[in-house]
Amino acid sequence: MRIGTGYDVHRLVVGRPLVLGGVTIPFDKGLLGHSDADVLVHALCDALLGAAGLGDIGVHFPDSDPRFKGIYSIRLLERSYQMVREKGHALINADATIFAQAPKLSAHYTTMAQTMAAAMRTTPDRINIKATTTEGLGFVGGGDGMAAMCVVLLGADAV
Ligand code: MG
Repeated sequence: MRIGTGYDVHRLVVGRPLVLGGVTIPFDKGLLGHSDADVLVHALCDALLGAAGLGDIGVHFPDSDPRFKGIYSIRLLERSYQMVREKGHALINADATIFAQAPKLSAHYTTMAQTMAAAMRTTPDRINIKATTTEGLGFVGGGDGMAAMCVVLLGADAV
């Protein structure tokens, strides 16, 4: 078995859609980035790549590459997990936390897990999503950005 962690941060700005876990969530701001800036999917990709010893998302999908401009990050997850599978590993489970002061996200957990699981051709019960505010503290609490962290466990094959 192999373990990996991922952590990501993106800035919140007016005039961008908020995409988390591959799901567009109604909100007055969205995350800024070269891609759709899906902070949750990026943390999951980094955890997967880390567990497999494949570096990180920036190595495989550099933000200087125009091919990834505005890309739906679920496509990056598909490719990341493909690389993990090619090394002979499979997802046992992933556990993720989103750090966001607003909006409330719990109503979207199921759809996010389904969307990310589909990208990996696995089942949503392997992905747990949580969210927390930071009690108004720091860049998350001030509404300037969101963060996500993720831990992934890989096995020789899915059990
Ligand atoms: Mg990112």
